[in-house]
Amino acid sequence: MAETLNILESARLEIKKACNLLKLNPACYDILKDPLRVMETSLPVKMDDGSTKVFKAYRSAHNWALGPCKGGVRFHENVSLDEVKALSMWMSLKAGLLNIPYGGGKGGICTDPSELSDREIENLSRAYIRSIYKYLGERIDIPAPDMNTNGKVMSYFLDEYEKLNGEKQDIGTFTGKPLVLGGSLGRNEATGFGVVVATKFACQKLDINLADAKIGIQGFGNVGSFSLKYLLDNGAKIQYLCIHDRKSPSGLSGLYSKEGFSYEQLSAYYQDHKTLVDFPNAVKISDTKFWSEKFDILIPAAIENSITSEIAKKIQVKLIVEGANGPITPEADEILKDNNVVIIPDILANSGGVLVSYYEWVQNQYGYYWDIKEVQEKQEKDMQTALKRVFETADKYQVSIREAAYITAIKRIDEAMQLRGWY
Ligand code: NAD
Repeated sequence: MAETLNILESARLEIKKACNLLKLNPACYDILKDPLRVMETSLPVKMDDGSTKVFKAYRSAHNWALGPCKGGVRFHENVSLDEVKALSMWMSLKAGLLNIPYGGGKGGICTDPSELSDREIENLSRAYIRSIYKYLGERIDIPAPDMNTNGKVMSYFLDEYEKLNGEKQDIGTFTGKPLVLGGSLGRNEATGFGVVVATKFACQKLDINLADAKIGIQGFGNVGSFSLKYLLDNGAKIQYLCIHDRKSPSGLSGLYSKEGFSYEQLSAYYQDHKTLVDFPNAVKISDTKFWSEKFDILIPAAIENSITSEIAKKIQVKLIVEGANGPITPEADEILKDNNVVIIPDILANSGGVLVSYYEWVQNQYGYYWDIKEVQEKQEKDMQTALKRVFETADKYQVSIREAAYITAIKRIDEAMQLRGWY
């Protein structure tokens, strides 16, 4: 059977399964299987050499029954319409799971930003906002960072948006902003922090002692690096990393450190070199060896479809916590389920990003800002509530944690759509 590598198909499969199990009105799936609005734009951008290059860009507003759409914008060479649609669906589900007043949104620009200068990135960011600003707003659709975008890109977005929007300071139109422009403490690290909240919760359920656990992490970007940091803060030791390596045929390599990695050393090296390929304080291993290790906990935190059925057959772990969106194909998911691997799905495990984005938006409305302790205490409490709700649903319906997460989220969106009279 051919592997399902189109994440829109994967997302629809899970949504359909949950709608059928809950015996919902067929209109619910018909609405959820596609975004309510999608924009596809072409962005002509002046390059440093005087030429003009045209970039494809997208913004998907999946569903606004629960509130304004919310979701990141990624800059990546593989961005496609289907990918953006699927990611926006998952954002609706994350908000549904967390009980926050948002629908799902997502955007992307098809580019490899490592080939662009800072000025070209600024021109591209501003062009993106010019093309879609009429459909953005604190109460309409609220972008945030995702792969290869950050607070600096959000600052260009905000500045361009305010110029076009009559200089109104609707700073809650974007989250993941730098602190000085109304960002929230704890937002940058929120997704990794949340991955660790989910990991600790699952460890308790599975009787895994974090301090003795053998742990592997794939990816050392925003999510991977902060997952590693907070795992170390909670007494864990991380000896295995899987990193992006353009020279390896699979695009990946493994790193092993007998004494365990230091967050400070890894991030200092990554900041200077933009890669960990030649990180000196580790032994290089193959990615095949990485995937075959007998981990207690595996955290894929890089890109979608990292774990295909071929890789799933090698995996011998107890717990997978999905830091990335869609890192496991549906076929691999079946194999892992048959092998009794417990999986905390992306829409639950990495929902800390949108949760703290919500806190940032709330703080922007108030003009009053919280300290990091308050942000992280709130995040831990809200995520634990969602985790408990999903584990209870899994027990009630006798389904996997992934299926339970979809059921929990879709129930809430379905109720809102019914109350609005959509069916
Ligand atoms: P990032 O750009 O900071 O890091 C991405 C990581 O993936 C890097 O380590 C990079 O080297 C690696 N990578 C890139 N291309 C790769 C390839 N072809 N093969 C293997 N590795 C590759 O991005 P991030 O923000 O850490 O996002 C990682 C994942 O987490 C994405 O799926 C993203 O959608 C998801 N996510 C991010 C957030 C957030 O707040 N940043 C929130 C929820 C979900």
